[in-house]
Amino acid sequence: MKYISTRGQAPELTFEEAMLTGLARDGGLYLPAEIPVMSQDEIAALAGLPYEEIAFRVMWPYVSGSFAEDEFKAIIARAYEGFGHDARAPLKQLNENHFLLELFHGPTLAFKDFAMQLIGQLFQVALKRRGDRVTIVGATSGDTGSAAIEAFRGLDAVDVFILFPHGRVSEVQRRQMTTPADSNVHALAVDGDFDDCQAALKDMFNDFDFRDGVKLAGVNSINFARVLAQIVYYFSAAVSLGAPHRKVSFTVPTGNFGDIFAGYLAKRMGLPIDRLVVATNQNDILHRCLSGEGYFKGDTIPSISPSMDIQVSSNFERALYYAYGEDGSAVAQLMDELKTGGFNVSQGAMEALRESFDSGRVSEDETLETIKHTLAHSAELVCPHTAVGIKVAEEHRAEDVPMITLATAHPAKFPAAVEKASGEHPPLPSRMSDLYERPERVTRIANNLGTLEDHIRRHIAE
Ligand SMILES: *Cc1c(COP(=O)(O)O)cnc(C)c1O
Repeated sequence: MKYISTRGQAPELTFEEAMLTGLARDGGLYLPAEIPVMSQDEIAALAGLPYEEIAFRVMWPYVSGSFAEDEFKAIIARAYEGFGHDARAPLKQLNENHFLLELFHGPTLAFKDFAMQLIGQLFQVALKRRGDRVTIVGATSGDTGSAAIEAFRGLDAVDVFILFPHGRVSEVQRRQMTTPADSNVHALAVDGDFDDCQAALKDMFNDFDFRDGVKLAGVNSINFARVLAQIVYYFSAAVSLGAPHRKVSFTVPTGNFGDIFAGYLAKRMGLPIDRLVVATNQNDILHRCLSGEGYFKGDTIPSISPSMDIQVSSNFERALYYAYGEDGSAVAQLMDELKTGGFNVSQGAMEALRESFDSGRVSEDETLETIKHTLAHSAELVCPHTAVGIKVAEEHRAEDVPMITLATAHPAKFPAAVEKASGEHPPLPSRMSDLYERPERVTRIANNLGTLEDHIRRHIAE
């Protein structure tokens, strides 16, 4: 499989190259040159298989030129062995026709583990083969950083540095980043906010001396390998509810559009998905866009579902690429307009988006109310992101099609909001109940590019 850029001006790459590169040189995002399609028989045959086997069959056409079959199977096995549930992504029934897909049984209790754990193993195997090593630097508002640290800790081809805003992540999130003892893990508490961390990261990538010197690599949500790993659970969930003989719909708590875009690819691969519903909190650029108001940036307002506090959804560019008939220069022009505030979506592209996507927005009060209601009526304690999804899903539910809402994080990751809404304190799963006792290791650091680069240079392994 060859990979092409959404902006049409970057060289075609193999899967391995696209994964190690992340962002394309023309500023675009990589996509497979063709979306592989599975037959109805092939999809039906997935029913009842272990998650790892479904993962292999769904992802193999995307990676086959870059990894051997046995090698890829071993990678998948290692990626998911640390999950706290044998089903990996179990499905729970909320009411007659509404199901929760629990994606929080990985090591950091959020769905990002599905992609990050896989990408860690893929990087390690690819780099070993090349006799190479890289420095991964990430900026996080919480969930991505801890997932990256858990995925890369102890791997000898990689050093991982995570920048997070000092004092602005939850205690669980911070401890998940500061308690791993592996020497290749470096948690940096930056004096600044999340935007400062992201800006510093961007500056590092634009500092070519530094970038080449430390072999900088990125694993943020635009990396195609992350999208790929997320396609799998759409298949596992849909076949367990009767696909391909029966249609299903999904509602996805959305920020950067990575998770729901994986659902779009699952649909294009032949999975009978009726609707893909985007659920946003008050940071609603996607809901406004899908309602026909154009794609215009607003100010980010902090919410109780912080992993969705985003005003520019980086992966939406991939959906636009298909909506604009795979026209890279049209996408490049839209992204230019975005730099100065935003753009209107053409009528044809709006129609294409509406063929697959619906959307809804949820207020802070509605989020709290939904946590309370879900506990009272379905005996499930859910995290605020999941609650945003449940609320929007209930508004978009059709009688004859099962609705599956993605439960993106464990409630114990956001205990304050959950307790405020429900009166119940969500306990950590027993396998990490000593998180509050483990010693922390963190470097507090000034929000200054030179200081940060210096620190990274001095702390990478020889
Ligand atoms: C990252 C995240 C989201 C948003 O996912 P996107 O792929 O960015 O749309 C939703 N919920 C939780 C808990 C997350 O960590």
